[in-house]
Amino acid sequence: MAQAQDLRQAITSVAGRQGPLLSMYLSVNADIPENQRRAYLLRLRDAMNDEGVPEELQRRVRDYTEEETHPGARTLAIFADEDDLFEIYRLQVDVPESFRWGDPYVAPLTLVLDEYEPYGAAVLDAERFRYFVVSPLSSAHGEEEMKANGFREVDVHPSETHPRGGGSTDLDPAGRKHQAHVHSFYKEVGELARDITFQEDVQRVILAGPKERTAEFRRTLPNDLRERVVAEEHVDLGAPEGELLDRLEAIRERAEHEREKELLDEIRERGVRGPDETIAALQEENRVYHLAALWELEAEIRWCDNDQLAIRQITSEECPFCGRKTRVRQLKDVLVDLATARGARLDFVMGEDENTDTLRDEFGGIAGLTRF
Ligand SMILES: [Zn+2]
Repeated sequence: MAQAQDLRQAITSVAGRQGPLLSMYLSVNADIPENQRRAYLLRLRDAMNDEGVPEELQRRVRDYTEEETHPGARTLAIFADEDDLFEIYRLQVDVPESFRWGDPYVAPLTLVLDEYEPYGAAVLDAERFRYFVVSPLSSAHGEEEMKANGFREVDVHPSETHPRGGGSTDLDPAGRKHQAHVHSFYKEVGELARDITFQEDVQRVILAGPKERTAEFRRTLPNDLRERVVAEEHVDLGAPEGELLDRLEAIRERAEHEREKELLDEIRERGVRGPDETIAALQEENRVYHLAALWELEAEIRWCDNDQLAIRQITSEECPFCGRKTRVRQLKDVLVDLATARGARLDFVMGEDENTDTLRDEFGGIAGLTRF
C-alpha cells in the first residue's frame, strides 16, 4: 500500500526532527457531540495557548483549520514548526486528542497505521462495477477524488463491453446468453478487484448491490478474495452517490462492530481485564498483543517520564524505580504510548452499544488478549 508507506516515511522524518515542533491530533469527527458547531476550533486555540506555541505558528494553524468547514476526517494530525514543516494528515480513525509543543509525538499515528484495516467495497449490478476503498489515511492520491466518509473510488476498466439488455430469466436463449455475459463480466472484474484489494492492502471487503447479483459475484470470486468478504448487502445502485456512500459507511461500521464483538468474546474466554491486570500484563509481563479500550475512558494514571512506565499506585508521587517525580496522565494517552512501545494493537471502542456496555461494565474499561 503506497499510501501507508508514504506515511511511514513521513513519520520517520517528523520523528527524527529536532524540536520544538507542534504535534497535534485534533478530533474533528462530526458525529461526536463535543464537536458540534466546530467546537474543536476553540479547543485548538486553548490548547495551543496552553502549550506555548509561538503566535505566528498558532495563526498559521488556525487559518488552515478555520478555513475548512468540512475536514472530511475524524482526526486531523498536524505537524508544524516555525520553519518549513507544515504537514497535515486526515485520519478516518478516532485517536485521543492531544497537543504537544516540543519533541515530535508520532505514537498515535503509528498506532493508527498498525491497527486500522482498510476496507474495500465492490458495488455492482448486472452491468456496472465500482470499487471503493477507505483507509486510515484519507488523503486522495493521484487523480482519485476523496468522497464522503473518506471513501475514494478506484478506477476499474474491464476490457469487455459491459453486458447490457437481455431477459432476466435464464430459460430463454437471450436470457441465457445474457447470463453468460454477466458471468464472464464478473469473472473479469473479480480478478481486477482482487488486484486492487492486494495493491491497497485491503483486508475486509464489502459486496453491495442487488442480492442475486452479489451472491453470484461472490461465487465467481477468486478464493483469496472471497476469504476477505465480511459483508454482503442489498443496495440500490440507482440511489444518489451520497446515499450509496452513507450505506457503505453504515455497513463498514456494522462489520467493525462485529469484529469488536468477536474480540471481546475472545477476551472473555482467555484475556485480561480491568486497568490493573491489563496494564500489568501489557507493561510488566509484555504478553498483551491486542487491546480494547473504551473511548469514553476518563481514568487517570501516574506516569514516569524517565522510565516511560505507568505507575499503578496512584498516590506515588515518586517513581518506585528511579525515584524521580511522576505525573498524572490520561489512561487513554498512556495506553497509546505503551501499546506503541510494546507492539500491541489497540482498538478504541466508541459509542453506546452492547460492546461499550461489555467493555465498561464487565471489563472495567480496558481489556486485552494475551499471548500466554
Ligand atoms: Zn522512573
